[in-house]
Amino acid sequence: MDEILGQVLRSAVWERLDMLTELANRADAPSLLSVARSELPRLTEGWRAMLSAHEPDEKGNCPVCSSRWRQQKAPCPVWRAAYEHLVAGGLAPQQPPRHALRRATAGAR
Ligand SMILES: [Zn+2]
Repeated sequence: MDEILGQVLRSAVWERLDMLTELANRADAPSLLSVARSELPRLTEGWRAMLSAHEPDEKGNCPVCSSRWRQQKAPCPVWRAAYEHLVAGGLAPQQPPRHALRRATAGAR
């Protein structure tokens, strides 16, 4: 992918995220419900697709984040970000206790 196309793609994604944030902050309840019904499945599918690519291999390394010279042990930064944003950051009813968080991010997979 050339540099311009990459830039266009990244801008489009940032704009989409900005639009969703704007909607979450300002839309009335019926519009928000409609957006949530259409956009939440797209967002969860996006996370699933991204996380599937970052599933650890049989040696416990992320195949995407690892290079020939440096192996990235699971959980890789993508999985850590997912945990941070989806579990620790607000969707979960409460923060897990500190020891549970450490165990989850230490990654014995
Ligand atoms: Zn990864």
